[in-house]
Amino acid sequence: MRIDLHTHSDVSDGTQPPAGLVRAAADAGLDVMALTDHDTAAGWAEAVATAAEVGIRVVPGMEISTELDGHGVHLLAYLPDPRHPALAAELAAVLEGRNARLPATIAKLQAEGVEIEIDDVLAAVAGVPAALGRPHVADALVARGVVADRSEAFDRWLSAGRPGYVRRYAADLTTMIGVVRDAGGVTVVAHPWGRTRTPYLTAERIAALAEAGLAGIEVDHEDHTPDVRRTLRGIAGDLGLVITGSSDHHGAGKEGHGLGCNTTAPTEFERLMERAAAARRATGRPVQEEYAWTL
Ligand code: AMP
Ligand code: FE
Ligand code: FE
Ligand code: ZN
Repeated sequence: MRIDLHTHSDVSDGTQPPAGLVRAAADAGLDVMALTDHDTAAGWAEAVATAAEVGIRVVPGMEISTELDGHGVHLLAYLPDPRHPALAAELAAVLEGRNARLPATIAKLQAEGVEIEIDDVLAAVAGVPAALGRPHVADALVARGVVADRSEAFDRWLSAGRPGYVRRYAADLTTMIGVVRDAGGVTVVAHPWGRTRTPYLTAERIAALAEAGLAGIEVDHEDHTPDVRRTLRGIAGDLGLVITGSSDHHGAGKEGHGLGCNTTAPTEFERLMERAAAARRATGRPVQEEYAWTL
């Protein structure tokens, strides 16, 4: 069983449509794939329909932009009902925040002398994303020849502290863990120690999140060194958290994140799905028929 629980389609900042992504996952020999676009369930129906065709299992998920005391944290949510009012409202606020940031980002880049227009961003977009984010601006900078790839765009212009950075709305992490559970889903912190030298999510903070209902942490991720993975595995073990491993695949948008480059152990996946089933029973939320077969 090969299980990859974190992938992006062009409904967010990946470069493959959901159907193409699911076909690629089957070709890569995956048995289970979670679709986890940023802050949206818009790709679920297409992905689940294609999964049935090609004979793999798709777990509907999303990667929610949250923050804890001002520190950004990506929260993976699996199988929540996206129609739950509090969840729907938070996702709408995050997507709106990202769209509102786009003109401000373009203005900042122009003020720095970069020749770029909103139309360049629209032209650089592959599919129909639920919102336009920094990766789409990065693609426009690449198309304009300002930078060579997305990574350089972030390093030079778009990351926090760089000249094109604009802050945007993110949901409160602890609140969101509860909201997802109320919506019948389970949560896993994505790449908790990725892209940072001094991890903000210490063992103590992760313990508090577990207390708030967090189900797991993503340990095996390309942004984590072998040392980091060992330490995080220990923390998860101490707290009884589910340990996941995933590619965080973004199609051509992210080098070195091929489908299945990290995977989740079947026993850990079972634990995660049991937690989701328990949340669903506890909330009494009706199971969405179109996704019922994934339970
Ligand atoms: P946004 O949601 O608009 O704030 O953009 C954040 C997204 O940009 C993340 O989810 C990543 O997919 C992508 N990203 C962040 N940092 C980098 C980087 N250094 N290189 C490439 N992609 C990045
Ligand atoms: Fe992304
Ligand atoms: Fe992420
Ligand atoms: Zn991701």
